[in-house]
This record gives sequence, structure tokens and C-alpha cells, in this order.
Amino acid sequence: MPQNEFNKDKKDIRLCPASRKCGGCQLMNLSYEEQLKYKQSKVVRLLGSFHRVLQIKGMESPFHYRNKVQAAFGRTRGGEIISGVYQSSTHNIVKTDSCLIEDEKADEIILTIRRLVKSFKLTVYDEKNSRGFLRHVLVKRGFQTNEIMVVLVTGTLVFPSKNDFIKALLKAHPEITTIVQNINNKFTSMVLGEKETVLYGNGYIEDVLCGKRFRISPKSFYQINPVQTEVLYGKAVEFAQLTGRERVIDAYCGIGTIGIVASDKAGEVIGCELNADAVSDARVNAKINNVENIKFFCADAGEFMLGMKDAGEKCDVLFMDPPRAGSDKKFLSCAVSLSPDRIVYISCNPETQQRDLFYLTKNGYKVKKIQPVDMFPFTNHVETVVLLSAKE
Ligand code: SAH
Repeated sequence: MPQNEFNKDKKDIRLCPASRKCGGCQLMNLSYEEQLKYKQSKVVRLLGSFHRVLQIKGMESPFHYRNKVQAAFGRTRGGEIISGVYQSSTHNIVKTDSCLIEDEKADEIILTIRRLVKSFKLTVYDEKNSRGFLRHVLVKRGFQTNEIMVVLVTGTLVFPSKNDFIKALLKAHPEITTIVQNINNKFTSMVLGEKETVLYGNGYIEDVLCGKRFRISPKSFYQINPVQTEVLYGKAVEFAQLTGRERVIDAYCGIGTIGIVASDKAGEVIGCELNADAVSDARVNAKINNVENIKFFCADAGEFMLGMKDAGEKCDVLFMDPPRAGSDKKFLSCAVSLSPDRIVYISCNPETQQRDLFYLTKNGYKVKKIQPVDMFPFTNHVETVVLLSAKE
């Protein structure tokens, strides 16, 4: 097993110098081929009793796939200003200048900001006494549109030398399309605070996925590997076998991506999502794409399905994409009552998916296809799309 080198794409990349402390890439010591094998066998072990598992879809180049990069700012004991990732399960910052899986442009911008913080003599946030200015930098890039958002997360609203700092940052990186200041002065592990002010541009970026445009604001959820998201959504829509007439539910819809991508091929789409910000983004996204056959509801997915069931509603195809904890009994039992012909279950956690598949297969559904997709190379996460059909 190659311990410290990488041969994919003939790149000979030494093991990441930060990998031990950072802990973000659990599979760093495996070649990409070995990583894919490991993930395939994990899915086979957990889901193989339901159906044969299709070959995992990996990336052609598994590097720099993250379109969203976050860096914490702090000081070393010696007083040097550093930025990087938190050492796993701690708040000690591991200084990182670049990363194998992060967008390279985002890393470059963060290094520039580190340099500017020093030259403008700005302070960095100290969690111990809740004092200081710059706390985190978040960069999001639209891989297809090349729009770039920089979010400066600060401990105070007051921004010393604001205009000159922004000018210097834009001079070094004219490719930045928007800059936002987010104020977070709470004792919390959440990166972003409530309050935001737009310092440059319109405060959001857009990106294109499966031919549709999506608005991404600092707080909204967007898949972090857009290349593989197209593969994932492509499989999900293919499994749904839509003909243009179906009534489709997109449960746990986030900013509406799956529903909007499927809307051309469906009669009607109903999206449901708990996070209110995501729902407003979803509605904007439907408008941007001139999608008229879609509606979004802000609700707990289980409650929403219960409401549908009580109203005697039916649906033809159900997409479900729950968070890592999977779905709950309320959701699943109501889903069965709505009697969709097909359920397309997208999951980022095959363990909870296994539990939910047990329920669905005991209650009238049969697993027809299982497709793993590698959304997160070098980490031990694996995404799966499962097609279930109602038993005759
Ligand atoms: N399908 C979307 C989002 C998937 S992430 C995409 O591909 O981008 C899972 C989503 O489920 C998140 O947006 C989260 O806010 C939402 N969520 C979590 N718990 C929920 C619940 N109980 N009811 C509805 N949505 C929920």
C-alpha cells in the first residue's frame, strides 16, 4: 500500500503535511483506487443484502474539489498570525497554506488575507477572551460561473481601515465578485453569526448545476463538490424515470436543487425543507430558472408528509435526501401512505439509510438499484442513490 505518495494523474504528491493534525482526510494513506474500493465495500456491507450494488462513481481527478473553503484565524504562542483548520475535536488552529481537496483559488485568497491582516495591523480573534477582529474567512466559488464570494467573519462590527483593506484585497484578486462581513461575537463553534453587511458586490454568487442556475448566499447550503453533484443528481433523475406527467415530492430539498433539476421532466414538483433561509433561496432559484411547476414549503419533512397524508394526497415519485441522521418513522410511514410508484433515496450516510431501507422494504417497497457516488475523496464519507419501487 503506498504510504506517502500519490500516483493518480501521474502526480507525485507527498502526504499532506497537515493531515495528522487536521484529521479531515481519513483516507490520506490510500491511493484513490484503494479509497474507492474501501467505499464500495462499505456500501456492499451495509446495503448489499437489499440488492446488488453498482460500481461506485469516482472522480477523474480527486483533488481540489471543494468549492467552499473555511479558515480560522488566530495567533501562535509566539504571536505569529496564522490561518488554517481546527485540529480535529479541538479549537487549536493547524496552520495550512494549501490543501489537497480545497479550491486552489480560495486558498490563495485566504493567504492574501493573512498577509493583509499583518500589513494593516488588524487583530485576530482570541476565543479565550472573546476579543479581536478577524475570526474566520469563508470563500465560496461557483466552479461553472467563476463567481467568488469572500466572507470575513469578525468579532466586532467596527472594521478598522475597511475601505483600504477591501481595495487592497480586490487589487490582489480582481476575480472576487462579492465581499461580505459577517459578525460573530458569540462563544460558539458555529462559524457564521446572524448579522451580515455586504461590503462589495451583491452579497451572493450564482453557480450552474445540471444546466440550472442557483443562488448561493453566505449561509445557504450548497453541495461542496459540484462536479460529483452533477453525477449524483443525474443518477437520481435517471432513477426517477420521469415522463413529464408525474407529481413529484422533493423532501429535504435544501435550496431546491434536485426538484428544479427534475422539474422539466415532471408534471408538478413539491419541495419541502426545514431551514427557512434555504426555502427562500429555493423560491428565488425557481424564479431565476423560470420554473413554474414547483412549490416549496417550509416545514419538518415528517410533519409535511403527515399533512399530505391527512389531506388524502398522493404522489408518483418521492425524492428524499435527509441529513446524516436519516429519516424518521413519521416521515417513512406517511411516505408509504402517499404510495409513490418510486422512491429515490439519496443519502450521505449508508448506516442510517440501511435502517430506513429496512422499514421501506418491510412496508411495500423493493430496492431496485444502488449507486454509490464519491462526493468526498480522501474522506471516509460516501454518498448513495437508491431506487425503490412499489411492489406490484
Ligand atoms: N437536497 C438538498 C439538501 C440536502 S441536505 C441538496 O442536495 O442540496 C439535507 C437538508 O435537509 C438540509 O437542507 C437540511 O436543512 C434539511 N433538513 C434537516 N432536517 C429536516 C427536517 N426534519 N425536515 C425537513 N428538512 C430537514
